[in-house]
Amino acid sequence: MQERQYERRELSDLSYERRRQLEGYRKEAEGLEEIRILCPICQKTVDIVFSDARGHKRIKCSRCRKDFVITLPRFRIKRR
Ligand SMILES: [Zn+2]
Repeated sequence: MQERQYERRELSDLSYERRRQLEGYRKEAEGLEEIRILCPICQKTVDIVFSDARGHKRIKCSRCRKDFVITLPRFRIKRR
């Protein structure tokens, strides 16, 4: 018996409006710096946020298998 698979969806399955919206978000982020969120224990990159990200974030390290709550520091936003 075949293993059950998740339904694979592609970008092209999304509505035109949704794709336009995603493209808009990508363009908005173009002038921002990317900040790597590192695991506090092993320093593995667990996520990447943009420099306008604020507040608390829950992260889970796939190497340590531990989760942490961190705060995102106030980084300088690069001017476009
Ligand atoms: Zn880790």
